[in-house]
Amino acid sequence: MDARRVGGRIAAARRALAAGGSLPIPVLRITNGLAMISLVLSSCDLLRLCSDRSRPLRFPLGGREFATVLCQLASVVYLLSLFGVPSGSGHPKAPASDDEGGGSPRRARAAADAPAAMHAGVEGGDEEIVAAVVSGTLPSHHLESRLGDCQRAARLRREALRRVTGRGVEGLPFDGMDYQAILGQCCEMPVGYVQVPVGVAGPLLLDGRQYHVPMATTEGCLVASVNRGCRAIAASGGAVSVLLRDAMSRAPVVKLPSAKRAAELKSFMEAAANFETLASVFNRSSRFGRLQGIRCALAGRNLYIRFACSTGDAMGMNMVSKGVENVLGYLQNDFPDMDLISLSGNYCSDKKPTAVNWIEGRGKSVVCEATIKGGVVQSVLKTTVQKLVELNIIKNLAGSAVAGSLGGFNAHASNIVTALFIATGQDPAQNVESSQCITMLEAVNDGDDLHISVTMPSIEVGTIGGGTCLTSQASCLNLLGVRGPNRDSPGANAKLLATIVAGSVLAGELSLLAALAAGQLVKSHMKYNRSSKDVASAAS
Ligand code: ADP
Repeated sequence: MDARRVGGRIAAARRALAAGGSLPIPVLRITNGLAMISLVLSSCDLLRLCSDRSRPLRFPLGGREFATVLCQLASVVYLLSLFGVPSGSGHPKAPASDDEGGGSPRRARAAADAPAAMHAGVEGGDEEIVAAVVSGTLPSHHLESRLGDCQRAARLRREALRRVTGRGVEGLPFDGMDYQAILGQCCEMPVGYVQVPVGVAGPLLLDGRQYHVPMATTEGCLVASVNRGCRAIAASGGAVSVLLRDAMSRAPVVKLPSAKRAAELKSFMEAAANFETLASVFNRSSRFGRLQGIRCALAGRNLYIRFACSTGDAMGMNMVSKGVENVLGYLQNDFPDMDLISLSGNYCSDKKPTAVNWIEGRGKSVVCEATIKGGVVQSVLKTTVQKLVELNIIKNLAGSAVAGSLGGFNAHASNIVTALFIATGQDPAQNVESSQCITMLEAVNDGDDLHISVTMPSIEVGTIGGGTCLTSQASCLNLLGVRGPNRDSPGANAKLLATIVAGSVLAGELSLLAALAAGQLVKSHMKYNRSSKDVASAAS
């Protein structure tokens, strides 16, 4: 049996054991270590034997020499076999901390945890595997780990889905997606992907720089409208933004034996004298997470502790959650009667419309403003300063107040936020709070020009982590010059992206308000949002 075949067999055995679950990854680490030790010791022994002139090596070998040579051969073959094993099965390289490697820890962990080979029971061709999934003997969500090939796993799952439902998904694209990249990071049990067209609006002239804004949307008129807003802004000298605050929040809820005791913990958490200690415990979780503040609220004997922290270029939910866990562990010493009910107690508040985000902010808080020249209002926006100001008061301010709105004092901020979020790999569900916005319009320069601003307290964006690493999303970030982490000034990319979101919202607000003031809304939607092709096919 030649060395390659022996190596192949050992590798196959290791894979089968790992996939079968009887030899877990930590045990493989130990066997790898033992092989290394055996190699070093046997090499030393061999060298010593070869150089010992009083006992030259002779064939047939003696018992000890034979054992040494055997150890040497076995460890060499074992270690060589590692090269035949897809990464992840023998050498888990999960970073010890959040900061190692600079990539996403979730993905690295998932890759390390995924046994890279076939399960003994499903070894075989595609047909057998699909049949096993259809019959339920192989759970669909095990495909990636059992096959060690994400593309194949997705393809076979898709085929199993077709057989189970009796419906094809031919229209759902399959090729062109990196299924390995989404493993443990973006989506479970993939069967394809949905195409969303990306349009580009701009250039948006913001803080002296031009940006071409990618927007993923299926709403006709939206990109055109933002584009027109950008034109009006650029023709008036550009927009200016200010970032007021950068703090992602997470609020666990803990229960204490009494409301009095919960109030004691509240005082402890909010005391200025304790902040430094709490911050140093919190900040241990990451190089980038830095505690900014703590605010507590009581409901009976339940205490909601809202931690807010800056998170570098990451949107930061994972980072802040890890810091919170550190602090909760630390608090157990002084408050052993504290019972953790949930790491998230909804006072955070993630993906829900809340007053706390509207008032305190979450993620990046940004104000963006521009002064639009009266002539531009007329020529580009086809309306007047006076009409726009009045419309904004009656619609965005009074109308939203009548509706009991929570941070919805705007015309359509969420349209722009969501389109930009999808294009750049943000979490689209966070458009709930990220779209909170108050749009203010005033006549300035003796009523000739228009001052417009958008104030957005909770823009939650990142340029690393989550969906930002996927090829298409990363290229949209690249278009804006904010792809990945900013190595010179960590956090600068995410902050810039937040200002671009606000600037684009400014353009969108300006344009939609103008369309409403000029009575053009329905006309332009009929032009861009309902093609005759659509109507004809719907009618037929
Ligand atoms: P989130 O906290 O938004 O869910 P992840 O934890 O998935 O994000 O990704 C952030 C990861 O990127 C962390 O491991 C972090 O250490 C790493 N990282 C590298 N450079 C930066 C940076 N400039 N800003 C923030 N995180 C960074």
